[in-house]
Amino acid sequence: MTTPDRILVTRSSMPPFEEYVEEIRGLWDSHWLTNMGEKHEALEAALKDYLGVPDIALFVNGHSALECVLEAMQLHGKVITTPYTFASTTHAIVRKGLEPVFCDVRPDDYTMDASLIESLIDEDTCAIMPVHVYGNLCDNDAIEEIAHKHGLKVIYDAAHAFGVRKNGVSAATFGDASMFSFHATKVFNTIEGGAVCFADPKLKELLNQWKNFGITGLETVEYVGGNAKMNEFAAAMGLCNLRHLDEEIAKRKLVAERYWERLEGAPGVRLSLPKADVSPNYAYMPVVFEDEFGATRNEVREALLAQNVYSRKYFYPLTSDFECYAGRFDSSKTPVAAHAAQRVLTLPMYADLALADVDRICDTVLATSRA
Ligand SMILES: *Cc1c(COP(=O)(O)O)cnc(C)c1O
Repeated sequence: MTTPDRILVTRSSMPPFEEYVEEIRGLWDSHWLTNMGEKHEALEAALKDYLGVPDIALFVNGHSALECVLEAMQLHGKVITTPYTFASTTHAIVRKGLEPVFCDVRPDDYTMDASLIESLIDEDTCAIMPVHVYGNLCDNDAIEEIAHKHGLKVIYDAAHAFGVRKNGVSAATFGDASMFSFHATKVFNTIEGGAVCFADPKLKELLNQWKNFGITGLETVEYVGGNAKMNEFAAAMGLCNLRHLDEEIAKRKLVAERYWERLEGAPGVRLSLPKADVSPNYAYMPVVFEDEFGATRNEVREALLAQNVYSRKYFYPLTSDFECYAGRFDSSKTPVAAHAAQRVLTLPMYADLALADVDRICDTVLATSRA
């Protein structure tokens, strides 16, 4: 028997080669490779339009964007966030000298449980940083009402939520700011890249200064800023990928629907179906294997590996359980997040994944069940 072709958990979207070459050709005339060049400005304009936001600032990656917005808002004290996320969310808070306070998530979509937020607020709390996990949108209305009542900033980690809308409203407009990641593995990529979307007009200049060493004038440097600018080649990749994005999302939709059709209703299989008022981006295919399934998440992962299919324990471990935070947090205080982290597996998901491969993956998953 021959081994079936390897299927990775994701596959980066790329434009036709010639289209990219055409996009970067002008750079050989201008010799302007970074520092808010022509491609950078064009991508900002295109993304403002696509995401329907008042303003946007581009970054070298999503993580730097997150750190930069914390700096630009000059926050101090505690930030309420969740541990069911990628390292970046928690690390950004800690690296900026702030203290994360972990709120549990909701069992149906793994986003912050807004009913628990107020019990975590004290006089040192300055902000809330919720995560739109897998592109599932947070309960933004409830979160922002609490934030408003207590005078807190809301900064969304929207790395998974590019293009997602709720009742036709772009999720990028939620809160005081939303961070997007354009990493190669995301729905929309600039190879590496990221952005902050916001409405406050004062924030644009501040973000641009913080991402460029805190330089505020020809001979003035007012902040201890870093370097987090997006270069022209990355911006050009973004311009090309954006032209094909709707088509890519439409293909992802077919893949997602095939998975849901095959897996929905299987005992002990918990899927993450989009809510009725949300237009999703089909970024990930998370499956939580409850005890009733009869096989553990790790057993499913091994069965898939034996078929040359790569899945990912995303998110495991909780950020509050990372070695670098040993002794600082207590993950038993976020039991819903801990439960999901022990049981979740994200299955391969990308626009060009063949439906026959989805069937093969689902067959393997379902065959491990002892329900
Ligand atoms: C990808 C990701 C980030 C970080 O983005 P980079 O562009 O890789 O720096 C942050 N948060 C979440 C939830 C992510 O998935």
